[in-house]
Amino acid sequence: MKATMDKLVNLCKGRGIIYPGSEIYGGMGNTWDYGPVGVEIKNNIKRAWWKRFVQESDNSYGVDAAILMNSRVWEASGHTTSFSDPKMDCKFCKTRHRADNLIEAHSKGKVNPDTMTNEEMEAYIREHHVTCPKCGKSDFTPIRTFNLMFETSRGVTEEGQNVVYLRPETAQGEFVNFLNVQRTTRTKVPFGIGQIGKAFRNEITPGNFIFRTIEFEQMEHQWFCKKGTDGEWYDYYKKAAWDFLVDLGFDPSHLRYKDHDKLAHYAKAACDIQYLFPIGWSELNGIHNRTDYDLSRHSEFSGKNMEYADPVTGEKYIPYVIEYSIGADRLMLAALTEAYDEELLDNGETRIVMHFSPAIAAYKAAVLPLQKNLGERARAIYRRLAKSFMCTYDEAGSIGKRYRRQDEIGTPYCVTVDFDTEKDGTVTVRDRDSMQQIRIDADKLEEYISDKIRF
Ligand code: ATP
Repeated sequence: MKATMDKLVNLCKGRGIIYPGSEIYGGMGNTWDYGPVGVEIKNNIKRAWWKRFVQESDNSYGVDAAILMNSRVWEASGHTTSFSDPKMDCKFCKTRHRADNLIEAHSKGKVNPDTMTNEEMEAYIREHHVTCPKCGKSDFTPIRTFNLMFETSRGVTEEGQNVVYLRPETAQGEFVNFLNVQRTTRTKVPFGIGQIGKAFRNEITPGNFIFRTIEFEQMEHQWFCKKGTDGEWYDYYKKAAWDFLVDLGFDPSHLRYKDHDKLAHYAKAACDIQYLFPIGWSELNGIHNRTDYDLSRHSEFSGKNMEYADPVTGEKYIPYVIEYSIGADRLMLAALTEAYDEELLDNGETRIVMHFSPAIAAYKAAVLPLQKNLGERARAIYRRLAKSFMCTYDEAGSIGKRYRRQDEIGTPYCVTVDFDTEKDGTVTVRDRDSMQQIRIDADKLEEYISDKIRF
């Protein structure tokens, strides 16, 4: 793997993939804007996920729930009281840290802070003289817990304002709609609800490009099943989550499962799939057996009975939930890392190439007239292809430089229109990875490319 975070950030900025947020005002820490190329890649990632987990998944349905929810939702889910991180400040340079991260970094991953209480973490930091990564001193404030939810208020008068939260996860939108979806689709348990949407977290230590941001998108799938079958479904989704990544082109040696050592009080089993990011092995997604906790809590807090009535046996019960959750932006970072390559060519030059799966590449084809006077013909081909998939058109600069630009954004096919096109209607198609060129009839292009970009 040749990607470093700096190389990715520079490439993304220079090629219209991702820009720093609010840049002309000096930026806004840890916010990022997707550019013309980046928005296509991210949309393709979301489309591929939706296709796999909603469209092709037996008995799964999509929702798009509101970001702002009744505040009681967050009381029921436990976020109001316990969605917090242990923060400590360096007394010397005033930098804010997460105590668990300090311990993990100091012990090089050998000590797992997830199993420690706040007092145990404080004691560890004191006894091992853990130092501040910024200034090197070892003098911290006691741990304080810090709720990660962004708070705002709703109301037209100062007095009548109510606190509302920007959702910190999309999952609750699926839970509160469990009965709506079940009734309106007339489906039976087991079934799934998928959702893609924004989530917001006032992270103490955001950073590492789009790995951890304060605003991000989640792709979540909740599978509602009967208690007793939950173990089987948990294993199923562990595998499905892995297979999705491998089918997107991830090398399995860059992925690993990591079971959680300390389970949340409601969870029966939980594991992450970690990816070998430029910052090292880190969580890419999570799979959790959340038992009947969420639906039971919503029953209790809303007063609405969330039981499912089995139409065959008449049995009534609250289903168990297997949750699979992955950040679209974090998957984008993983896909960028996985795709990045620097190849030494025979002529001694280095080419940067993004080996994206064609299914997630921003443009499926770039149409390039060899010379400007072939532009009319080339534009007609471009317009025809653009009816079927995203394409780009470029007539500026030498053909070699134009190929390199497409390599750097991962366009799988370059279609070159030359003088033979005028004579016999054929074009050359250059393959991004092998750089091999073939000649095909321009009328067959759409079929040729469509076949290769399917996920
Ligand atoms: P982490 O341990 O990295 O904070 P988490 O365990 O809190 O993550 P979940 O609440 O399970 O994460 O969220 C599901 C997924 O959402 C994560 O696996 C990750 O892909 C993504 N995600 C979570 N927090 C962020 C964030 N701040 N920025 C970008 N993606 C995030």
